[in-house]
Amino acid sequence: MPECRPVLILGGGINGASIARELALNHVPVVLVDKADIGSGATAYSSRLIHGGVRYLEYGDFQLVKESLAERTRLLQNAPDFVKPLRLHIPVVSRWGGTWQTMRRMAGMDRPDRPTRARGLRLVQAGLWCYDAFARDRSLPRHTTQRREESGVPHLNTLYRWVCAYTDAQMVAPERFVVALLQDAEHFAMAHGERFDVLTYHDATLQDQSVTLRDRSGNTTCELKPELIINASGAWVDQTLQQLSVTAPRLIGGTKGSHFVSHHPKLIAALDGRGIYAEAQDGRPVFMLPFGDAALVGTTDVRFEQPPQHATASEEELEYLIAAANQVFPDLNLNREAVAHHYAGIRPLPFSRAKRTAAVSRRHTLHPHACAELPMVSVIGGKLTTCRSLAEETVAQVLPQIDRQVAANSRDREIPERAPDWKRAVDAPARLQEIIQTEWVQTIEDLVERRLLLLNDPNLSRQTLRKLAEALVHAGRLGDRDVETAVARCQQRLLQHFGKTLVDSD
Ligand SMILES: Cc1cc2nc3c(=O)[nH]c(=O)nc-3n(C[C@H](O)[C@H](O)[C@H](O)COP(=O)(O)OP(=O)(O)OC[C@H]3O[C@@H](n4cnc5c(N)ncnc54)[C@H](O)[C@@H]3O)c2cc1C
Repeated sequence: MPECRPVLILGGGINGASIARELALNHVPVVLVDKADIGSGATAYSSRLIHGGVRYLEYGDFQLVKESLAERTRLLQNAPDFVKPLRLHIPVVSRWGGTWQTMRRMAGMDRPDRPTRARGLRLVQAGLWCYDAFARDRSLPRHTTQRREESGVPHLNTLYRWVCAYTDAQMVAPERFVVALLQDAEHFAMAHGERFDVLTYHDATLQDQSVTLRDRSGNTTCELKPELIINASGAWVDQTLQQLSVTAPRLIGGTKGSHFVSHHPKLIAALDGRGIYAEAQDGRPVFMLPFGDAALVGTTDVRFEQPPQHATASEEELEYLIAAANQVFPDLNLNREAVAHHYAGIRPLPFSRAKRTAAVSRRHTLHPHACAELPMVSVIGGKLTTCRSLAEETVAQVLPQIDRQVAANSRDREIPERAPDWKRAVDAPARLQEIIQTEWVQTIEDLVERRLLLLNDPNLSRQTLRKLAEALVHAGRLGDRDVETAVARCQQRLLQHFGKTLVDSD
């Protein structure tokens, strides 16, 4: 019997990985290719919330909120190693602020790109009431309203009169979740004798229905004739189409969002495991979230026209976020020194001429390419939260194109963390080798930034980088003589890209 031709997925972010898993569950052979590391795009640079998106209610996007809340419930049930409930607190100044404007907007009488004025208690309560009603998950506590003094949140600005609290969820490590999705798919495919290949740091080119995959040195490692191509390259969707010589209108209008991570003890104590969802001066939402032993503050929303991999948080964005945090907690007097490191990602939003980036829909869509040499579809938009439903929709749309039917879905399938002790792997040679061998690791950066999340470790040292480089040599991923170069390159990237210094740097 001739071998079934695989579906080729370009992009191993949370969406590409979810689609790969959904296809594998339907017994479709898969080759997933990422031009860098898996999970190295927007997936690693988000706010890490698994949420319905209270804010989307203002734009009347009820369908997106319902879908996201249903997926939140599924993730809490199916991926408890990754997704945990998080109580969020919204401090409020006025009683009626923004209510009239929101009512006019929902009736189509106000421009959606006009910023909302400081949201008052009635508006926030109405939003949270809808949120609770849309969430079918009765196991999570409903929203509450308290006077600031009784809310239990210390150091809040006395400007605030009330605090509304509601429950959402958090995925602290989407980087590891991507690995888990791919491992689950790989195990399923192997158990059924089906093809499931993941190739990182590879570029794909297309000619006469044939795809050539080349590694970083330009060597051809694979030629294949896929049945179908799924372009799940996030903010790179347009560049990927160019690379494949596929003509299409501009599909992505990415916006940059930056965060900073802080180990400031007073900020961590003020949060005490809870999240704060406040407004910056310009009405944009700002989150202050617990993040392991640290705190995560974000985000901004600015148009970005450069290649997504060049996105870094600007000083201006960091000042904006520090000012927003100080407005909520003036006693803390946070300054630039509170920033341990920062990161920035590009939201893969649909291209839109809307003046205000916050008004661009966060819904996902699929764009089929009639002109491509092969059946092909590009994935536009999406959130961490809706990765599974996006994958289910994508598979339902593409399988008929290759004469297949949907036979299974991932709605009730668990996603286990297969290396629950990954935090200690740096000191356990056997575990570290296993992670390198089974989690598609190629470089020190893969380990530091995404597999072991050492980027968040305030005690990260050059010595640790060297240890990781030596483990890569042992695994055959790095040449003996390249250790020092690789360590220096990683140290430089940590500084330039994330503003992070090592404890033993000169
Ligand atoms: C600042 C910010 C905050 C966010 N906060 C949240 C949040 O709190 N909750 C939430 O649900 N969502 C959030 N999101 C949205 C969410 O992070 C993204 O929508 C999601 O991660 C997109 O995943 P993706 O797989 O489509 O893209 P990505 O994660 O960007 O992955 C794309 C992959 O494609 C690869 N690639 C690029 N070009 C090619 C090519 N030619 N060939 C092969 N591979 C290629 C890249 O290397 C990358 O690995 C946020 C996003 C940002 C930027």
